[in-house]
Amino acid sequence: MRWHETIKTALEIAEKTRNLDLKQVILDLREALQDQRDENLRLREEVAVLRRARGVDDRVERDGVLVFLRPESPGGKREGPFCGTCYGQTGNLIPVSKAGGDNFKCAVHEYLKYIPPMIA
Ligand SMILES: [Zn+2]
Repeated sequence: MRWHETIKTALEIAEKTRNLDLKQVILDLREALQDQRDENLRLREEVAVLRRARGVDDRVERDGVLVFLRPESPGGKREGPFCGTCYGQTGNLIPVSKAGGDNFKCAVHEYLKYIPPMIA
């Protein structure tokens, strides 16, 4: 990132001219920029999650307590199963694993009992 270089140069100048006040201001500025960068990264991740959720929503297929994703293209395989509770609460697709019988295990919710749909 470009501001790193600029801050570094400014710090060098402050040190060369032995200006401690200026050096402190630059260090504060660097900290503020780092906070902004972290916030920026966090927001980018949030946007990515929302974009994924939006793109995925039309493909979601509920099947009892489970959620599947319809294939992206005809003839493709549907993805899943994912936890329907987690999807309903957060929009996140958390994979579930079989836990014997009709039970599935979600990493967040422990056991889920599979309830088959009324109409197959
Ligand atoms: Zn869950």
